[in-house]
Amino acid sequence: MSTKHTGVRCGRLQGRQAGQVCERCSDQCVACEADRHLWEEARVCDECAAQLLTPLPLCRGVATVCIQCGGKGAVQSAYFCRECVLLMRDRDGCPRVLTVGGAAAAGHLSGRGGR
Ligand SMILES: [Zn+2]
Ligand SMILES: [Zn+2]
Ligand SMILES: [Zn+2]
Repeated sequence: MSTKHTGVRCGRLQGRQAGQVCERCSDQCVACEADRHLWEEARVCDECAAQLLTPLPLCRGVATVCIQCGGKGAVQSAYFCRECVLLMRDRDGCPRVLTVGGAAAAGHLSGRGGR
């Protein structure tokens, strides 16, 4: 069995909030990337649920961050496929990918001047 690792997952205790994924990452299982038999919403931990909502500049509301790639503009709930639910991977803890390709996704904010 091969487990594809695209990054380090959070793994903390899951809360009640379902994670969101962007269009590119939608329609696939958050654990094994299968694109069929999506079965159950993937819930993230409370901390990630809070972090994933990023306020947009100029008070234009909030953007939801994709739990798979870290990109802003998540539009859909994240899902586990049936197989992963049966293997209870959905209970493995928060499935959010914290690092993508070794680089922190949130590390590159091109703003000038801090607070
Ligand atoms: Zn799966
Ligand atoms: Zn988490
Ligand atoms: Zn994504």
